[in-house]
Amino acid sequence: MENVMFKGMPASPGIAEGKVFVVGKEKKISVLPKPISDADIHLEIAKFENALLKTREEIENIQKHIQTQTGTEHAEIFEAHLLLLEDRMLIEEVVMRLRNEKVCVEYIVSDIMEKYARAFSELEDEYMRERISDIEDVSKRILRKLFNIEKKTLKNLSEPAIIIAHDVSPSDIAVMPKDKALGFATETGSRTSHTAIMARGLEIPAVVGIEHITNDIQQDDWVILDGNRGVIYINPDSFIRTKYEEEKIRLKEFEKELFSLHDLSSKTKDDFKIVLAGNIELPEEVSSVFTYGGEGIGLYRTEFLYLNRKDLPTEEEHYESYKRIAAVFTPVHIIIRTLDLGGDKVAPQMNIPPESNPYMGWRAIRFCLAVPGIFKMQLKGILRASFLGNIKIMYPMVSDVEEVIKAGRLLQDAKDELDAKGLPYDKDIEVGVMIETPAAVMTADIIAPYVKFFSIGTNDLIQYSLAIDRANEKVAYLYKPAHPGVIRMIKNVIDIGHKNGIWVGMCGEMASEPLYSILLIGLGLDQLSVSPIMIPEIKKIIRSTTIQEAKQIADTCLGMNDSEQIESFLKEKLKPIIPKIATDWG
Ligand code: PEP
Ligand code: MG
Repeated sequence: MENVMFKGMPASPGIAEGKVFVVGKEKKISVLPKPISDADIHLEIAKFENALLKTREEIENIQKHIQTQTGTEHAEIFEAHLLLLEDRMLIEEVVMRLRNEKVCVEYIVSDIMEKYARAFSELEDEYMRERISDIEDVSKRILRKLFNIEKKTLKNLSEPAIIIAHDVSPSDIAVMPKDKALGFATETGSRTSHTAIMARGLEIPAVVGIEHITNDIQQDDWVILDGNRGVIYINPDSFIRTKYEEEKIRLKEFEKELFSLHDLSSKTKDDFKIVLAGNIELPEEVSSVFTYGGEGIGLYRTEFLYLNRKDLPTEEEHYESYKRIAAVFTPVHIIIRTLDLGGDKVAPQMNIPPESNPYMGWRAIRFCLAVPGIFKMQLKGILRASFLGNIKIMYPMVSDVEEVIKAGRLLQDAKDELDAKGLPYDKDIEVGVMIETPAAVMTADIIAPYVKFFSIGTNDLIQYSLAIDRANEKVAYLYKPAHPGVIRMIKNVIDIGHKNGIWVGMCGEMASEPLYSILLIGLGLDQLSVSPIMIPEIKKIIRSTTIQEAKQIADTCLGMNDSEQIESFLKEKLKPIIPKIATDWG
């Protein structure tokens, strides 16, 4: 495929180019009946037996892994796969056909497996029909062993490449060798899926929601991935390559200009201070908050501590992990958000059963309150680190003041337990909540007396209020931060917070979008916590406006009826500050 462009959604800025690494969906292994000589028959039989042994080993290893993570039940699925490997009829048929037909073993195995799958697909019994996937799975494993093909996973990314996948989970990203991932392109996801958020945090250009990309791309294709426009070019011609060389030079110039603001404060032209902080997902991202001139951490997502492991992090591990950051950032604040697993972040050791609506399920504070022992382990780790720096605690996904009160009681228990051991912590540690459910917006006045700050989580707030799954590319076009309903909710939360004497920030991705910066300042936000990579651009916008102008712009937006109108108005206002970098070409 030469010079073909695929369009998706821009998920993480930057331009990447290089060879691809296709994960996830596997291409069908096509096999031709290569003739063999009489002398080769015993070699082909040995090859087959060896492939069966290695497949058995592989399945047993997976079975063990799953057993330790989830209990025996799921691991039993693999018993069926193992039985198939021992099926005498299958083995005898392969050997007999090798002798009679004298063609390669790969062809014979694949032909027999296809026959098995066809026979099962014609069965009346639904349960038996569903066994086709078992046959296909085992068949693919044996064929991979016969062909000596390693299954592609992100963990075994050994050379720098652009990752092409149906889906990449936050746990995959956590274990992937970061220096090898030049970029991402996925079929699923949206700008606010955690995969996209993590790509931005790690400064890996990404495009999501590209239909059928894994079918249309070949393992050794060379691509240009443009995370600013949300496109990917497969084997681009010299015209496109030259355009991108020019674009990279322009972007470098722009970056240089932004970096000159590094040591300047995020104040408006008329000296109104907006705190500009960074969001981090992994501890290694802390340095980029500094690099880009952020003043603190407005959202530290702590889920990474729980991903890709069989056990739970201990109080000591929590403490060590937060202590490192506390030491770096003192005296500027670090807001540690308590565990928010669920949705697209899955940790098997937590035994959260599969849910049909995981974003509305047993998530975040709901889960923590149900397992107080696990929750308190984290609270004690945070408290102990608070002795070393300006740390605040934030509870996610609150929908009822009762949850804040219950969490407060557990926090008090945690403090008492530390007191009993004589371990120090910040006695005045501040607690805040994320406002990310419509119920929290409507009851912000009831919640406010229990907390010291609000931080608006637009990723979830928009998902819940506009009824749009934030990770589903099919409905991503409906995900509108400038929806009048969303803007009104933000305004109400800010006003209620201020009336109650507490500051209000935003750590959802809306705060990372330069298009909305002036509007958000004008609505009255005190803090913006953004993807570190976006700090310089947003600082430039803050420094280029006055609070009066911003308020007028916000008032005009509040009087508008639809998001398109609001967005084109905001684009006009932004143009003189951030000239369009990305230009379109065919
Ligand atoms: C949000 O919902 O806006 C948020 C910041 O939290 P998360 O993206 O981790 O759900
Ligand atoms: Mg959220």
